Amino acid sequence: MSAVLKGNWNFPTTIWAGPGRIAELPAACARAGIRRPLVATDQGLLDSAMVRAAASALGGAAVFGGVQGNPTAAHVEAGLAAYRAGRHDGVVAFGGGAALDTGKVVAFMSGQTRPLWDFEDVGDWWTRADAAGIAPVVAVPTTAGTGSEVGRAGVILNEATHQKKIIFHPQMMPRVVILDPELTVGLPRGVTAATGMDAFVHCFEAYCAPGFHPLADGVALEGMRLVATYLPRACADGTDIEARAHMLAAASMGATAFQKGLGGVHAIAHPVGSWFGTHHGLTNAVVLPYVMVANRAAIAAKCEVVARVLDLPERGFDGLLAWVLYLRRELGIAHTLAEIGVTLDKAAIIGSEAAVDPSAAGNPVPVTAADLERIFRASVLGHLQAAA
Ligand SMILES: [Zn+2]
Repeated sequence: MSAVLKGNWNFPTTIWAGPGRIAELPAACARAGIRRPLVATDQGLLDSAMVRAAASALGGAAVFGGVQGNPTAAHVEAGLAAYRAGRHDGVVAFGGGAALDTGKVVAFMSGQTRPLWDFEDVGDWWTRADAAGIAPVVAVPTTAGTGSEVGRAGVILNEATHQKKIIFHPQMMPRVVILDPELTVGLPRGVTAATGMDAFVHCFEAYCAPGFHPLADGVALEGMRLVATYLPRACADGTDIEARAHMLAAASMGATAFQKGLGGVHAIAHPVGSWFGTHHGLTNAVVLPYVMVANRAAIAAKCEVVARVLDLPERGFDGLLAWVLYLRRELGIAHTLAEIGVTLDKAAIIGSEAAVDPSAAGNPVPVTAADLERIFRASVLGHLQAAA
């Protein structure tokens, strides 16, 4: 089985996929031109066997483990301090989406003189960066969802404004990615489900986003098929390496596809995560059907294609919506944001912040703050048809 699941891909970056390939981490660093790596990881993984093994394989590399939950500017500052103190020349970003984003932003900021928020993904602000000051990154995901390992951005929370900002530069793309499914077998079922649904939403929103991008559309459709096939298996048996391998691929495919754009689900999930500290993938999974209902007229034809690719028993928009609701139930995902601790008191702020989130621009139909507030309220209360 392992031989079948092994592959070296060069799109959208160098990816080494397969069980046990974490053994090639030193070779990955050499390939990326990193001699003194800083390993950036989640606080929860700091004492894990896999992080200890990675640091030891890299000749006793320093480990920065100060990443917890949604990454903030303070996490980036702490990582930069560790990076400079150790005179490192690159980052091994190792962990979930938060660790990957933080590690990538630390490597990006290591040679910049301007402050972090000058590089928000607005217009051509990325051209403000000194490209020569961007350190190389090797990315090793330990969850299958965000796809940050193949992304050119990091999402960082501005604690002063409670807004999640996207820090973007084309050279933030990791030089080498290791997709080793054995690193994900220990993930609890709930995290597997929530992160896996994030991958699905990346593919779905990218596919439904307007614009001419057949490359992204093709990747998105196959990514959705992989999630539909393998996420229930990975949740039923966390040691199913075949399922884990395909979910890691699907996660990378989602982030590859969403170069085309995202949509209302992410636009709402970002401020909800900022204000309520909810898990990103879980928030997306809860909000998805409400945004589908709101976008119904604009996405009906695309949903017909998705339903055919997934070979659903019932076709069209209604068939796909019914399947999404069924999958969420099977995976134990809540139907309402209220069930994950979100209240209505910030509804107006969520609506206005969602409207200016960069993801909103990819929604299949233009959405106003009032539209997004209505969808948010429907998601909190569980009134699916009220989203329309
Ligand atoms: Zn996402």
